[in-house]
Amino acid sequence: MPAASIVYRVAVMAPLSGFFDYLPAAKLNKNHPAPGTRVLVPFGRSQRIGILWQVDTAPAETPYALKPITAILDEAPLLDNSLLELLGWCARYYHHPLGEVAALALPTNLRQDRQLLELRTAYWCLSVPADADLAKLERAAPVQAKVVAWLQEQGGSSAADAMQTLDGDVRGALKRLEAKGWVKREQRAVEPKLTVPVQPPLQLNSEQQAAFAAVVAACDQFQPFVLQGVTGSGKTEVYLHLAQHWIDQGKQVLLLVPEIALTPQLLQRLQQGIRAHIVALHSGLNDGERERAWRECQSGMAQLLIGTRSAVFASLPALGLIIVDEEHDLSYKQQEGLRYSARDLAVMRAKLSAIPIVLGSATPALETMLNLQQGRYQRLRLRSRAGAAQAPQLRTIDIRKQQLHSGLSADLLTAVRARLQAGEQVILFLNRRGYAPQQTCHACGWIAVCQHCDARLTYHAAAHRLWCHHCGFQQGETHVCPACGSDALTYLGQGTERLEENLGELFAGAEIVRLDRDTTRRKGALEARLDIMRSGRPGILIGTQMVAKGHDFPNVTLVGILDIDQGLLHPDFRGAERAAQLLLQVAGRAGRASKPGQVLIQTRHPEHPLLEQLLKGDYDAFAEQALAERLETGFPPYSFQVMLRAESRQQSLTSAFLDEAAAQARTLLPGVDVWGPVPAPMERKAGHFRGHLLLQAPQRAQLHAHLDQWLAAVRASTVVRKVRWHIDVDPLEAF
Ligand code: ADP
Ligand code: ZN
Ligand code: ZN
Repeated sequence: MPAASIVYRVAVMAPLSGFFDYLPAAKLNKNHPAPGTRVLVPFGRSQRIGILWQVDTAPAETPYALKPITAILDEAPLLDNSLLELLGWCARYYHHPLGEVAALALPTNLRQDRQLLELRTAYWCLSVPADADLAKLERAAPVQAKVVAWLQEQGGSSAADAMQTLDGDVRGALKRLEAKGWVKREQRAVEPKLTVPVQPPLQLNSEQQAAFAAVVAACDQFQPFVLQGVTGSGKTEVYLHLAQHWIDQGKQVLLLVPEIALTPQLLQRLQQGIRAHIVALHSGLNDGERERAWRECQSGMAQLLIGTRSAVFASLPALGLIIVDEEHDLSYKQQEGLRYSARDLAVMRAKLSAIPIVLGSATPALETMLNLQQGRYQRLRLRSRAGAAQAPQLRTIDIRKQQLHSGLSADLLTAVRARLQAGEQVILFLNRRGYAPQQTCHACGWIAVCQHCDARLTYHAAAHRLWCHHCGFQQGETHVCPACGSDALTYLGQGTERLEENLGELFAGAEIVRLDRDTTRRKGALEARLDIMRSGRPGILIGTQMVAKGHDFPNVTLVGILDIDQGLLHPDFRGAERAAQLLLQVAGRAGRASKPGQVLIQTRHPEHPLLEQLLKGDYDAFAEQALAERLETGFPPYSFQVMLRAESRQQSLTSAFLDEAAAQARTLLPGVDVWGPVPAPMERKAGHFRGHLLLQAPQRAQLHAHLDQWLAAVRASTVVRKVRWHIDVDPLEAF
């Protein structure tokens, strides 16, 4: 009985860890399917989709009778071996159910019992009878006539192309022509659509060339590189050259970016600079578009995939190179469900695929800086700005005892005015959206707070509403104090909305553009705003951290940072690192073309050692000192952390759950420091009381060794059903 000695290890799409074993289908008329193929399996009382992971021999005895699978869903595997390995690693490392991890590698449709999308399209050819009266057609049915003329000119066309090119009811016209027998439909394979470079590639300068050559030399082997270059030093240009090189070798390239919507310029630059079939994968796509993009990758048609974090799971059978742009960016960390780091997974994927990976940044994460120091990663340096641009000048403005106008010191105001008069552009960075972060009563001191969170409500003037930025709660504005009935209500502090209003008065006639979540919500609003800046017309761009992302506005010559102290003095041990990265990224928007740029930083702590280093624009010196501090305190990257977070409607339940988990950790996890539990920095959010427990150990292996046992104990907690909880491996934020 040969079939009986074989088992299928299947990752079933269910929130349970590990594999489930099945027997081959009762009637197997072909070979066993290959790993990476979807199968339908009986699971409890229902049928579920799973991915066949391994075809193995069965042990002589199994604890329970194995059932055969119900069906094989694919003719060929959808995921290749190195991707399966990555998913398996990911499930183990993040202690997450394998089936749920595997689901991330498939588009929604294929997580169900659906067919693989066919990369075929209806293609229309002419078969107009010889005696057809085309002149009459033109009078009677002009759209049909246009379609016939177009097909004649093209020698045939796909419906999609015809509809894109011609106006009117093209689909209807095709249908009617088909009914008459004037056109015929056939199914054809979709052809790759190659982008065409608009100009020959730039000649790389010597540093860019050296970086390019180093990566090329490492082809076919795992080697992580860090392309460390100040903003505007030409990193993107190096990506372009590398991508084209790999594509010309018949390989696929994966380019991960923090956000695509925010930086439409990058996509455009790729489309105009590379000859390839390019596919973009990001959260702005609907399910159908995603499936199509995924399929083009999986079929090998896509040569360059540019995507946000989840693209790290894309099926790319001919993957040859991975590039992670702005590798320090927080958006690579998924903050719900499977809390993975796409940057870290990308490195692991490169390792499992034995290919090079390039991590690019002006301000690499301290984790990455340590990897460089320890020789695990190789540094490729771009020291100067490419082309004619020079590094911007950074200077602090001590705002202690100064009278501020709308948050701007006299020095900053003068500088802004001078730039506008010179016909140039200015960016003002204020990391707080809304009108005012606080509404208060002058008579009794009442403050508008959220009913559901330990937080104040932010006033939004345009919407006439008070909003909680933490839970989304909102209410209409009030003109009388709910506590004492006085009408002496005032707004304290300033957000981007108020700054925009105030600057409008100070610089009447100047173009003022605001870039934050509120002004970019509508479709097209972001592009419109970026277009104004790109046009180069003199004006002021006000914005939150959105302005720090890779934008290239050649006419920006001044960047003003209104309040650096908030970040600088942040209590989190990563606060300084974040502030440094943000500062240098925002600063990098100044003077990107031929005109020199200036950066003015308002602070009440001008003697802060971190600021002093950053003023020299020297991220390495900053990183060295920050790493020394981390070493002394034993924080990551010199140790590794896992955070257990919990929340419930009752404070006592949250702490009971975390106390129990902490006690278990102290017995089950030798060599691991257990800190807490402590309440979250904002304990009450959206009506839930939140707290956490932090596990830390100097070695990764030590931390992970008994984690599964501990998690089993946590799951068995007496109050587990009354709390929401999750673990976060390598957490980046306290909550
Ligand atoms: P980064 O990605 O490091 O911010 P970019 O690749 O966007 O830098 O380059 C900054 C600017 O310099 C762009 O306008 C780009 O076209 C230009 N540039 C880059 N490399 C070269 C080069 N080798 N020769 C001339 N201009 C270059
Ligand atoms: Zn009052
Ligand atoms: Zn709230």
